[in-house]
Formats: sequence, C-alpha cells, structure tokens
Amino acid sequence: MCGIIGFIGPGNPKSVLLDGLSRLEYRGYDSAGIAVLEKNETQVFRCEGRIQNLKDKLEGKEFTAHVGIGHTRWATHGAPTETNAHPHKIGSVTLVHNGIIENYLDHKATIKKMGRDVLSETDSEVVAHLFDLEIQAGRTLEEALPRVLPQLKGSYAFVIMNEKEPDVLVGVRNGAPLLVGLGKEQNFIASDVQAILHRTNKIVYLEDKQAAICHADKVEFRDEHGKAAEGKVKTINWTPDQLEKQGYRHYMLKEIHEQPLALTQTIEGNIDHPNGVVALHDISEKPDFLKNVKRVSIVACGTARHAGVVAKYYIERIAKIPVEVDYASEFRYRDPILSDDTLLILISQSGETADTLAACEEGKRKNVRTLAVCNVRDSSLTREADETVYTNAGPEIGVASTKVIHII
Ligand code: GLU
Repeated sequence: MCGIIGFIGPGNPKSVLLDGLSRLEYRGYDSAGIAVLEKNETQVFRCEGRIQNLKDKLEGKEFTAHVGIGHTRWATHGAPTETNAHPHKIGSVTLVHNGIIENYLDHKATIKKMGRDVLSETDSEVVAHLFDLEIQAGRTLEEALPRVLPQLKGSYAFVIMNEKEPDVLVGVRNGAPLLVGLGKEQNFIASDVQAILHRTNKIVYLEDKQAAICHADKVEFRDEHGKAAEGKVKTINWTPDQLEKQGYRHYMLKEIHEQPLALTQTIEGNIDHPNGVVALHDISEKPDFLKNVKRVSIVACGTARHAGVVAKYYIERIAKIPVEVDYASEFRYRDPILSDDTLLILISQSGETADTLAACEEGKRKNVRTLAVCNVRDSSLTREADETVYTNAGPEIGVASTKVIHII
C-alpha cells in the first residue's frame, strides 16, 4: 500500500504534489519522493522517512514544471532507503508504483544480462526499464503499454512520465486503486480521491487494466489492447472538510467518534419506513437474491474479518444458517467447498483489498452468489460482486475499518 499522485497542466507543481502526498501519508510513510519535468529534464527528489523530510529537502526550491508525479512508500521489496524510494527514473522514463510485481526477479535477470544497471532493490524499478526499452525503440508511452503490461505478473497502479513526451502523463492499474481527476486545463491521477478532492470532484475510477492518457486539456482512456475505452465520470460529494482530521489527533480517533452518525446513515439507508421493515435498497432489484441460502461464507481481512466473526454469531443465532469465516489471504488457496446454496459475503471498507478481490473471483469461478459489504461506491469489489450492501459511512482513512460492523 502506498500513496500516488500525478498532475499535468499549469499550476504550482510543488504544492500540488506535496499537498497530495500529505493527504496520502496515512497509506505509507517509510519514504517519499517527487519528480517534475523541468525544462525537458526530469528532476527527482527522494528521501527516507515522512513527507516532512521531503518538504525540508525542497525548501526554497520552486518549479515551473507542467507535469509531475509523487509517491509515499510502504515498502514491500527493498529497505526503506532513499535509493529504493519512488519515483524511479530510468533513461527518459520516470514512474511511481503501488503494488507488487511478482515476476520482477526474472525481469531483473534479463535486464542485467542486457548490461543495464539496476539501481534499487525494488520490484518497481524493472518496470521503468521495460518502458525505457520501448521508448528507446521509438515508441510512445501509450504504444508501450500493451507491450509492457502483459509481461507483468502481480498487482500495480503506475503513473508514468517520459521526458520525450512532456505533454503526456499516463496512469494504468491492475488490482491496485487508481483514479483520474478532471480539472480545468489541469488533470490529476491519484491512488485515493482525498489527494485531489480539494482541486476537483469530477473523478473517473479506472477499471482493471484500463489506462488513462492525460494531457492538460483532455484525458483519453484505453483498454488493455490499446483500444479507446470509456471513462465514466462521477461527481464525488464528499467535501474536502470531511476528509480533514477536524482537530482529532489522528483519523482513527476521528472515525471512532463518527460512529453514531455513520450508524444512523447505514441504518437509515436500509429501512423502509412506511412499512417498518428492513429493505436492502441496493439489492432490492433482485428480491430472490437472498432466498434459499443454506450456508454463508464470510471472507475478509483485518478489522473487516473481525466484523465477519461478529456477523457469524448474529446470522447463526437469528437466521439459523451455518456461517464460516475465512481470512481472505488464505481462502483461495484452501480450495473451499462452495455449493450453489452458499452465499459468499466479502467485506472490505475500500473495496480494493487485493486478497478479498481474489476471494470474490474464486467464488465467481465456483458459481456461488457473491455479496459485497463495502463503503466505497464503484470500487473494484462492488463491480466484481453480484450485489453490494453499502455501509454509507463516509470517508474512512484510518486503516482499521471502524464502521463496517454497523451493516452487519
Ligand atoms: N512494491 C513497491 C516497493 O516496494 C511499491 C510498494 C508500495 O506500494 O508502496 O517499492
């Protein structure tokens, strides 16, 4: 997990990037960095530790760049050092990455055999090499996408810039969140909406394997084969104020104090007042969806899994239906028995938890009904599952999911 931001267009690059990273710091804080394309030359600034260290490093520096990217890291491969921090610049290509490239060692070996120097211990750097090879062969970033991405195994969200294409910023994702913010003569890419919501609330959540080719005045979307794709624009109604800490020491404390309000919103959203009954409005289109369920399997990670354990007690006591609760990270590896009278419930606040998404895929492969319990509309899990019940808890930034229990 980490935070990513990118922008293209006129504006103050330093404040767009540092501001965005500060709002994302909860996602990763072992090191951070930015890169800006200043007069056709990429300048990269990175350091260990918190964003404040990066701010100190950039003290007194001003830029006129029209394109830049930033990253706050939570290391998976390689120690939290300056060399391993993102962005990674190879040749004319500079990128930031969230996720894990599972086959990076194979690529690393090939790249070394070509005589290239590998500078960091990360899985991410090899991808910068792969793009650079394409650029050196005369291709654009857009042309490179369908050639590089099929070579990667794992999860990723990348934001990529190229010195040879100063008017283009590319974002692409597979299994890690990435969205595009549409501004006025300036466009943004970020891992999370709070990085840019104070600049625009017109957001396109990228689909898996979808790419955004951003210019200052337009954004084009491409599918995995490089064909034109649709970017569905959403207007996000969360105010930037809702995303601030509002005087609390940290987000988790703020979110715990929001529980009464979140609980009211969740219950209100699922009650048919005139008839005095529970009505799951989000799944009311398919009234039979919950009929003839003989077994329930709940799959989640972390706090969400704890909510699942509580749900087991309630469902078994009230509905008298047996419930199993699994760690999402283990579910797909244990070849679970799922019959067609099973309801598979997947709980994830963000709807982007990689293992929970993989569990949902496993359920669909085995043809069972899948129900997501999620807070974020149009997130990957809600698109993948057959049906969704939303917690309507407002933005949750603290890693511990303090409100998912309400819907249960
Ligand atoms: N796997 C990459 C690394 O270790 C990205 C980690 C992250 O998502 O912060 O550098």
